[in-house]
Amino acid sequence: MRFWLRSLQQSSIRYSSTLNQIIDKRLNSELDSIRQAGTWKSERIISTSQSAHIKVEHSTNDLLNFCANNYLGLANNSQIIQAAKNALDKYGSGLSSVRFICGTQTIHKQLEQRIAKFHQREDAILYISCFDANAGIFETLLKEQDYIISDELNHASIIDGIRLCKAKRLRYKHKDMSDLELKLQESFNDKNENIIRLIATDGVFSMDGSIAPLPDIRRLADKYKALIFVDECHATGFFGPTGRGTEEHFQMTGNIDIINSTLGKALGGAAGGYTTGPKALIDLLRQRSRPYLFSNTLPPSVVASAMKAIDLIENDTSLPGRVLENAKYFRTEMQTLGFQILGDSHPICPVMLGDARLASQFADEMLKRGIYVIGFSYPVVPKDRARIRVQVSAAHSKADLKRCIDAFAEVGRQFKVIK
Ligand code: PLP
Repeated sequence: MRFWLRSLQQSSIRYSSTLNQIIDKRLNSELDSIRQAGTWKSERIISTSQSAHIKVEHSTNDLLNFCANNYLGLANNSQIIQAAKNALDKYGSGLSSVRFICGTQTIHKQLEQRIAKFHQREDAILYISCFDANAGIFETLLKEQDYIISDELNHASIIDGIRLCKAKRLRYKHKDMSDLELKLQESFNDKNENIIRLIATDGVFSMDGSIAPLPDIRRLADKYKALIFVDECHATGFFGPTGRGTEEHFQMTGNIDIINSTLGKALGGAAGGYTTGPKALIDLLRQRSRPYLFSNTLPPSVVASAMKAIDLIENDTSLPGRVLENAKYFRTEMQTLGFQILGDSHPICPVMLGDARLASQFADEMLKRGIYVIGFSYPVVPKDRARIRVQVSAAHSKADLKRCIDAFAEVGRQFKVIK
């Protein structure tokens, strides 16, 4: 008898016969097929704070963590924790409300102003996550007559956000500017002066660590009277010389029309997302964006921790440099060993393995050596493009990086991935 049935019988939970039938015929068979495909994702349970050095349940060993989006190592920064505690004391644990009813406090407005200033934009609007920011933007901005032109490898939240809007959808091949131009031409045949053509792209692609060619996209956007939307989740706070993101990396700060990003990665790692751009757009989002209108406001402690993270980044411009230097060292050493690392100069370093089972076994072997990395396989990445995505942080020391590289060398030889 299956474990879940046994535990159900021992508990007082009683499901209807319809639900039992659906669990048995549909859910369990889908779960079995995921297991059989070798793509089952299990969660390791961390028993410490998020950091470069962590512990997981059922192990007393210290693990070196290479799979967090904790790019600047701020997730357990003492100043950020203190700022969150102060906000808890002063503003309480939460607002029990959405923003427009009674969920806006002084610090929510302050953080929006800080974010807008950080990106050199007119205004910003907070969400409970960037997933929500992406769910809100397209439906609010675009109508039936408009066009949304999207990179095929955009993040799931952009894809879902686009599904919610009624605009005509065109998809261009990943970072392929000729294909983008074809799609723009298609939308340009529509001579309606009033339509919006919006190009949507990740600034940095989370699975590949590759960077959207924003200068080329800008050139095409101008030629075909299009706007540009960029998701900066994997760039804000650390990419570009002062951490302003992909547009700063390309020395084109202020040239992207709309930016969405997260507070849940480099900016303290708690949670939250935002849109920043022209005031009229932000005003419209406050009136119409459904995840903003119908979901709870960000907890004050989270707002305060993000604000402190921005303080730290603005006051210590060496922080972004540190993570990029670590990424460069890791990439160079791994490539010298013979590993194929995707992407450009970014701390997302995907070590390509191809086979899903190999990626998962490789990650298990790394764990035995005290290195916590995760194998990514279909449907998170395309079939036969399984990989281990290493994420380097400013919190890693050179010794941490070297331990990780040595373990890769050992396991790589064991599985004959390298010589
Ligand atoms: N966009 C990208 C590119 C992401 O990688 C993520 C998170 O993984 C999101 C959006 C969603 O961000 P959040 O965790 O703030 O919802």
